[in-house]
Amino acid sequence: MDHNVPQDEKGNITDDTRIRESLDTIRYCLDKGAKVILTTHLGRPKSKADTQWTVKPIVERLKKHLAGVKITLVNDCIGKEVEAAVAKLGVGEIVYLENIRFYPEETKNDEGFSRALANLCEYYVNDAFGAAHRAHSSTEGIAKFVPAVAGFLMEREVKIMSEAMEKPKRPLTIIFGGKKIADKVGVMDNLMKRADNILVGGGMAYTFVKAAGGEIGNSIVDEGSIEYCKNVLATAKKNKINLIVGFDCIAADRYAPDANTRTFETAKIREGWEGLDIGPKTIEAFKEVIKKSGTVIWCGPLGVAEMDAFANGCREVGKAMAETKAITIAGGGDTAAMVAKFGFADKFTHISTGGGASLELLEGKILPGVAALLNINQVI
Ligand code: AMP
Repeated sequence: MDHNVPQDEKGNITDDTRIRESLDTIRYCLDKGAKVILTTHLGRPKSKADTQWTVKPIVERLKKHLAGVKITLVNDCIGKEVEAAVAKLGVGEIVYLENIRFYPEETKNDEGFSRALANLCEYYVNDAFGAAHRAHSSTEGIAKFVPAVAGFLMEREVKIMSEAMEKPKRPLTIIFGGKKIADKVGVMDNLMKRADNILVGGGMAYTFVKAAGGEIGNSIVDEGSIEYCKNVLATAKKNKINLIVGFDCIAADRYAPDANTRTFETAKIREGWEGLDIGPKTIEAFKEVIKKSGTVIWCGPLGVAEMDAFANGCREVGKAMAETKAITIAGGGDTAAMVAKFGFADKFTHISTGGGASLELLEGKILPGVAALLNINQVI
């Protein structure tokens, strides 16, 4: 499972989407008469000593979702205590292992550790899409030693995303936001070969505007990506891709929720002002494109949506995506959380539970956690 859910300082779960999304697979296994062993990673513990990363809160939440099912948390991932708990496990019951990253062997994809995990079970079901881009013991190594299949969430994530890339309902539109261009270079390069429309908002838009010779005031800029942006602009022109970079914005006189704001053209922002949200004309232009699209993929916030004053672009674009009949996909952690916050989650075709994993799928990469499943299937 990818039950790596966000928690507050006290360990309370703040969003249990990943737990809820995994229930279909768990219930299916239980209903079919399986004895189920679950494992996940949580946070970034270095060893068992980092006890604040215990999966206890996850087990408690899972018990609420699976009322009546006996779920036992064991204090370890492999070894005598785990083997004893598994030996006692009844049909339709669950043993939940401790945080798999309590063992540094996990991220090293250690063969001995992978074998020890495999020895606990007869079948391995990978439903941890959010961790599928990592070749770790519990996501990849184990699949070498027991028959390995995808869970329903994994299947859905990979299928929807791959179809959107390989045979999309056209026009295919991708919306980029967020501030880090470097993270999205791979996706952009791949989409330059496939998309009909590319819409750019968020912090990254200003590097594009600067690359095209605009004055962006104090807006965020990634100087190291200016040449890259120039190339993207030129390639889009050559490939006849409709690339729209946010051309107006809501700018603030400081980075604060109560700052003074005014609207500027993004290429003519005065010194002392920084663009923190897309402007009304950009919102309209983006909405027009969304309305005419067959598939829309959204990666990254279009403004500093953590502050209500600069969340309007995200809200409006989210609304347009919720209202269209097109296939709509939100990828990446920030975007998924935002769509949920605005209440559009059930109106999207798909909201990816994996940040890094969904970006790597959009880059056209084969995820190690998925490749391991395919290889085993071929052998069987
Ligand atoms: P990323 O990790 O690259 O997806 O970026 C996400 C972050 O980008 C969020 O925390 C947003 O607050 C931030 N962001 C979005 N738009 C802007 C903007 N116009 N200026 C500064 N930061 C932004």
